[in-house]
Amino acid sequence: MSKDFYEILGVSKDSSNAEIKKAYRKMAHKYHPDKDGGDEAKFKEVNEAYQTLSDSTKKSQYDQFGQTFDGAGGPGSQGGGGAGFGGFDFSDFQQGSGGQGFEFNFGGGGAGDIFSEMFGGGGERGGGRGREVQVDIEIDYSQVIKGAIKEVSVYKSVHCSHCDGSGGEPGAKENTCKTCSGSGQVQKTMQTILGTIAQAAVCDDCMGKGKTFDKKCTKCKGVGHYREEVIESIDIPAGINDGQSIAITGKGEIGEGGAPAGDLIITVHVVPDSRFVRDGYDIRTIEHINFAQAALGDKIDIETVEGLVKMKIPAGTQSGEIYRIRSKGIPKLRGIGRGDHLVEVIVDVPTKLSRKEKKIIEELRHL
Ligand SMILES: [Zn+2]
Ligand SMILES: [Zn+2]
Repeated sequence: MSKDFYEILGVSKDSSNAEIKKAYRKMAHKYHPDKDGGDEAKFKEVNEAYQTLSDSTKKSQYDQFGQTFDGAGGPGSQGGGGAGFGGFDFSDFQQGSGGQGFEFNFGGGGAGDIFSEMFGGGGERGGGRGREVQVDIEIDYSQVIKGAIKEVSVYKSVHCSHCDGSGGEPGAKENTCKTCSGSGQVQKTMQTILGTIAQAAVCDDCMGKGKTFDKKCTKCKGVGHYREEVIESIDIPAGINDGQSIAITGKGEIGEGGAPAGDLIITVHVVPDSRFVRDGYDIRTIEHINFAQAALGDKIDIETVEGLVKMKIPAGTQSGEIYRIRSKGIPKLRGIGRGDHLVEVIVDVPTKLSRKEKKIIEELRHL
């Protein structure tokens, strides 16, 4: 409750949802840890602020009490230590614990919330599923139309093939871990406002394996996995929109103790194209014609996402009329067919007339 979520996002208390979302996206982009000059702590803070301010219930609680009363066990909180202490905010306390395998998991957030898309994997400790990894990519309009295969570099923990995850250098002698007597777990106690809580935690010395080796794996330093840059090939479906995410199961961080890996979440950003405005699966453009074309009709070239297309302007076209070129819009995601290209026609009235033009129009006046 010490943090000012409004200040973190740089918005005022009466900002609209859209303004909050916009500010969040800007900040999240700025501090994204995968970027040069990114800042993971700030990034998390920004996400925490957004998680509260984007949820009307949490926001009104926060406005009223300066904190939220979020129970454990939101949609994003499988795995982990998820203790069910509904009705309290343990976030400060959680930060203070720092203990391995001990975590009050408040990673709630509404389904479909950007926060849960990024961090929804939940339990990254205590044998839980691996963490989600979030990566942003940029594509251009032609890739929206045709779809694309993009290679992205993902920095994540991977299984150590040198020791096959055991943590021991191949051929090294195995010993039972002295710290945990081979169980892989130790009891940790901590003082909380509810009294002393004892909790089984993963043994730090053997990383929960119950065994140590007289020589640790030289590649992973005995951990069984290590972090590295992995190139993943991402199939971007045609029709994807700016800000949409693709989840790839099992391509995130490795899970502890044989648990499944987390997901890789790819957030797609579409580089704006000044020629086209997207409206759902349709494209909207504006075309200027002169009044002779409007009155007499014409055939003009329209630039669509698929190249030039001839469009008929019927005689008697009024300014502001919208013509539809069928199936020249955006392909539909996971569907058959595509949107249309809508052309708004603006009839320009000339501001300067030659002597001859003026004469002809004068004649029109007297008809
Ligand atoms: Zn290894
Ligand atoms: Zn141990």
